[in-house]
Amino acid sequence: MELCDLSAIELMEMLRSGETTSREITSSVLNRIHSKQDRLNAFITITKEEALKQADIADRILKEKGKEAPPLAGIPVAVKDNLCTQGIRTTAGSKILHNFIPTYNATAVDKILRQGAVLVGKTNMDEFGMGSSNENSAYGPARNPLNPEYVTGGSSGGSASAVASGQCAVALGTDTGGSIRLPSAFCGVTGIKPTYGRVSRYGLISYASSLDQIGAIGRTVSDCALLLGAISGHDPMDSTSAPVDCPDFIKSINREIKGIRLGIPKEYFVEGIDPGIKDKIFNAVTSLEKEGAEIVEINLPHTKYAISAYYLIATAEASSNLARYDGVKYGLRANPEPKDIISMYEETRSQGFGTEVKRRIMLGSYVLSAGYYDAYYLKAQKVRRLIREDFDRAFKKVDCLIAPVSPVLPFKLGERLEDPLQMYLVDIYTVSLNLSGLPGISVPCGKLGDFPVGLQVIGKTFDEATILNLGHIIEKITESV
Ligand code: GLN
Repeated sequence: MELCDLSAIELMEMLRSGETTSREITSSVLNRIHSKQDRLNAFITITKEEALKQADIADRILKEKGKEAPPLAGIPVAVKDNLCTQGIRTTAGSKILHNFIPTYNATAVDKILRQGAVLVGKTNMDEFGMGSSNENSAYGPARNPLNPEYVTGGSSGGSASAVASGQCAVALGTDTGGSIRLPSAFCGVTGIKPTYGRVSRYGLISYASSLDQIGAIGRTVSDCALLLGAISGHDPMDSTSAPVDCPDFIKSINREIKGIRLGIPKEYFVEGIDPGIKDKIFNAVTSLEKEGAEIVEINLPHTKYAISAYYLIATAEASSNLARYDGVKYGLRANPEPKDIISMYEETRSQGFGTEVKRRIMLGSYVLSAGYYDAYYLKAQKVRRLIREDFDRAFKKVDCLIAPVSPVLPFKLGERLEDPLQMYLVDIYTVSLNLSGLPGISVPCGKLGDFPVGLQVIGKTFDEATILNLGHIIEKITESV
């Protein structure tokens, strides 16, 4: 085992006791990136020189402060390429931002860098976060380390692939409809999407602002707790960030779960789910029951409308958010000497955006247009409320819900590309949380053949502590079987 294969918590302890240095760890991670990048394409930009400089600074802090050093000091972190990084190219996986160098850091990035984290690179992603397989990246798909002929899941596929293959200790991802949880499940790592408002979205390149959340991906639940703790908190720069207290997530993962009430949503285990996935989830539920959990069957009757409502709302917001890419303010300008301003917009947008992004801008503009607004957009917003009310009712009876992350195992590259609907359906168990603002964690709960199965724990608003706690127990149960 090399340094790059150790968990962030293990590295943190070694750094604090002086057993190793951040330079050694960072070099180990950079070597791993060097050997994997060609095959896995997890990064869009690798920040080798900056990383080594940051590692030396972290080593000085660690020497001065020892055990008092901030928890992330010296730890190599990868950041999804839709989070602004000052002076470092940030593309959001799009050609239209191929040369965009932000002048400021996203708050989440700023927070980890202030703790002394080492940024090793910007990870690959579906263009603007639009996708479930990472195949919509303008920089080629990231590949699954478990089998590079298979997808990583999307859209934070680069982050999940990098974490799973030791190309960083932990990574930041973003989740609009499942983009942290799905790739974590497909690559066999852990990912948490916090409650909407827990983490500031300032500096996150918007896809659908009422759904987007930044979260953490790690090889262990404790690593996710560590990273989530570092990025959480109110931020005056984001009016939707919540002024709520943030518990010590690391401490909360070791609580007893005796007497905890776990809901099993009936609608999540009907036709369409791979029976092998269903079995693995139920095996885990049986083990949790043995640990003292009480199992309650729950109904979420509006689940069947979730995908439709999500793709109406997400595309509507995307069509508005992406209007800013016009060849003037950011990134690409297709033709330096355009005929007129309209043709400059048209040429830039037609060359800069990929097929899926164009499809979504068209869909979103359509559902917002006069005459269709009431029938589609407004209706979807009403359904969104009903979905949230399903959860509110459920949480009167239980403390959290257990669900699959995906109805299918990772699929081969290209397998679902021809049929967007098939691709959208992969998000069936994840989008409802974004529509409702709830937190969810994806934890591996065993394997089917070569691939891991992801189990999702869904929590009450701002109760990340409980889902991390449960995730940790599931991790232990799974390791022991
Ligand atoms: N697959 C979903 C979509 O394409 C979710 C993506 C995300 O969470 N960013 O919209």
